[in-house]
Amino acid sequence: MSNLSDSTDEVQSFKFDAIAVIESPYREKFAIPRQPNLVSAAKGKLVLIGAANNHELVRDIEQFSHLWLLFVFHGTQAQGWKPLVRPPRLGGNKKTGVLATRSTFRPNPIGMSVVKLDKVVTTKQQTVLHISGLDLLDGTPIVDIKPYVPYSDAIINADAGFAQEQPDTALSVVFSEQAKMSLIQYEQRDSELALLIEQVLQQDPRPAYKQGKNDDKVYGMSLYDLNIQWQLTSFNTVLVLNITHVTQ
Ligand code: SAH
Repeated sequence: MSNLSDSTDEVQSFKFDAIAVIESPYREKFAIPRQPNLVSAAKGKLVLIGAANNHELVRDIEQFSHLWLLFVFHGTQAQGWKPLVRPPRLGGNKKTGVLATRSTFRPNPIGMSVVKLDKVVTTKQQTVLHISGLDLLDGTPIVDIKPYVPYSDAIINADAGFAQEQPDTALSVVFSEQAKMSLIQYEQRDSELALLIEQVLQQDPRPAYKQGKNDDKVYGMSLYDLNIQWQLTSFNTVLVLNITHVTQ
């Protein structure tokens, strides 16, 4: 399914322009955390574009430590959607209504994430919001930004069914000698690279059906322009094998 209706009725069909584009360390879907704030070391930028690239739109926004981002799942949009999906939290084999999940494959491919606002940088030409804790693919189009307001947005005793608790971050991460040497080299430009790799791998990016199981496959993931190879050495330990620069 793709089109919800063929209605051209203005009340039921809307056209929006992106107001910003995300710059993110996540250059591919694999290994992006499944929600924001699980990987605090992930830092990105919200680059305002078009008519929204005007510092007046973000005047006083620094008063808020966190922001809601509404965005388009542009990386999966073309794949359409189905009424039932298999959430990873249910092991990837039980079907649930799409609107009862945070799946990317939705009738309207709109995502929402709370991220931390670190600082606002404005030059004559460009307004940029520096953010962290993001779960967004590089290049994600943003359709709205709103302040996070805890008194209304945080409902402490809310029931969250199969997603009540934060997923276990059970994996321990160790670096090979070779990976440690690369870290020394790359940490000059990013002092939190080791922490970012560690936090991403702790989440166990493997498909849901592999979690909690031994696995001898060598995986590769990309962060910025780096390719990171890793492998499980026990059911709960990941070894980072090597970190190499990807030449384009
Ligand atoms: N916090 C959001 C997203 C949850 S799904 C929400 O609840 O709506 C999180 C997954 O979205 C990530 O694991 C990543 O694989 C995927 N994702 C992030 N940005 C994306 C994009 N631009 N296009 C497609 N998928 C994306």
